[in-house]
Amino acid sequence: MFIFFFFCRKVMYYVSVKNNHGLFLNHLRDTDFNGSQLANGAVHGFNRRRESLSKMQSVLVEAPINKVINILTSVQESCSNPVAQALDRALEILRTSELYSPYLSHPMKEDQMTSDLVGGLLSQGLRRRLSNYDVNRSSHHSHFHIPSSPTTMLNQVPEHIQVILETEPLWKFSIIDLETATNKRPLVYLGLKILSRFGACEFLRISESCLMNWLQMIEGKYHASNSYHNSTHAADVLHATSFFLEQQRYKAVFDQMDELSCLISAIIHDVDHPGRNNAFLINARNDLAMLYNDLAVLENHHVSLAFSATCKDDPVNIFKNLSADDYRTMRHSIIDMVLATEMTKHFEHVSKFNNCINKVLPKASDGSPMGDRGSEESLNDIVTHLSTDDSRLLIKRMLIKCADISNPCRPLELCSIWAQRIAEEYFDQTDEEKEKNLPIVMPVFDRKTCSIPKSQCSFIEYFVQGMFESWAEICDIPELMEILKNNYQYWKEKDKQESAEASETLVTEEDSQSEQIKEENENS
Ligand code: AMP
Ligand code: ZN
Repeated sequence: MFIFFFFCRKVMYYVSVKNNHGLFLNHLRDTDFNGSQLANGAVHGFNRRRESLSKMQSVLVEAPINKVINILTSVQESCSNPVAQALDRALEILRTSELYSPYLSHPMKEDQMTSDLVGGLLSQGLRRRLSNYDVNRSSHHSHFHIPSSPTTMLNQVPEHIQVILETEPLWKFSIIDLETATNKRPLVYLGLKILSRFGACEFLRISESCLMNWLQMIEGKYHASNSYHNSTHAADVLHATSFFLEQQRYKAVFDQMDELSCLISAIIHDVDHPGRNNAFLINARNDLAMLYNDLAVLENHHVSLAFSATCKDDPVNIFKNLSADDYRTMRHSIIDMVLATEMTKHFEHVSKFNNCINKVLPKASDGSPMGDRGSEESLNDIVTHLSTDDSRLLIKRMLIKCADISNPCRPLELCSIWAQRIAEEYFDQTDEEKEKNLPIVMPVFDRKTCSIPKSQCSFIEYFVQGMFESWAEICDIPELMEILKNNYQYWKEKDKQESAEASETLVTEEDSQSEQIKEENENS
């Protein structure tokens, strides 16, 4: 039985049914079938199928996009020519499948850095060639003693680590100091502290040692050899996530299930990252790309591995005491958030979030958003609106996305370290692409020629700035926005300086060359 839905001027429903004799009977809804035309058994089976089809018709509700297209189409029938033409163009856009994906505009091609970076993060890989890249490289974590007695674990953390952890509620908290103090095991310590504060053991009804075992197991699956995608990045994202969740607004919007889903998602969101991006894995025909059909390859792997490793082993199974319903809810929420970190969907998630908050936030007389500077009554309205299932889903996606790329909003010292680390990982990828004769996904990330300040300006301009401006509409983050602005200025200045130095070097080289030619001419 085949069922097709298709669009003509008005969206309609088309059903094609194949009977046992290979006949195609079209327009089932309008056709009165005569049982004698068919063999008895076939008639019986067919009637059953027909019954279930009509049942299906009675429960199927039109898809929202079809409703919108139908509304616009009916308006079109009674409106003036110019409006009808404009609606035609709008309908044409609505009928495409990639509603939220922007296209790379032509002028951007002139800016190689932006074009490479944006292309590298948004593309799913270009041409494909064979590779024997092994994603299962072992991680090289050095072991560090973790106290194992339940309930007192936080108290048993070595004092120099406790001192660093005390600054954790602040945005300026240094994850790099924690990385050094814990011998590259920051996730276990920060995870224990933050998850305890959010009541994870009580909510999940697990012992502190189960939580500790789980954190150790997950941290062990991050590759310490990656310069950027290691457990320090996961701990950094966890820190930003908890910072956002501490906002009063979210205390009213999210329940504990939401909060813990966000924190667990942050912890697992890049687990077993190979230090190469999706485009590389696709181009290299890596096993993971095969497994996930080139779609959100890494993000699918992170979440799938995290769940299978958690659930297969009782001592690390933090979900073991959740009811079936709660487990399903939490799993759904975590999968949704980790998949949202895939950068090809960046603009889609930001646009959906914007649509969601634009509906509810008060606007100034000139139409510009007023953030939450409305009356108490309107504040309550905002919270009510943001608390619906749909809104919470979009907010959680945005929250983890902002946490994931919040490094340009960190104090300059930290922001510079992250910029250096991501560039280093991209350089390694480019080196391997050259070595294996694979397509080079981001040619500007060549360690011999790359300008890190330029890469940071492009990253902030295209991915960070707009998203954080939207996020700041409902999240009180003036400190982050100020730091972001200053960091951007810093990178711009540095870029200018580098360019000036480069052109000075060029002039000096040209001068000495012409000097040399002059000398040679004189001598001859
Ligand atoms: P994830 O792999 O989940 O960390 O996704 C975030 C994406 O943003 C990754 O592809 C990173 O390579 C990229 N990214 C994060 N921070 C920076 C940065 N400072 N500069 C350039 N790219 C970045
Ligand atoms: Zn990440």
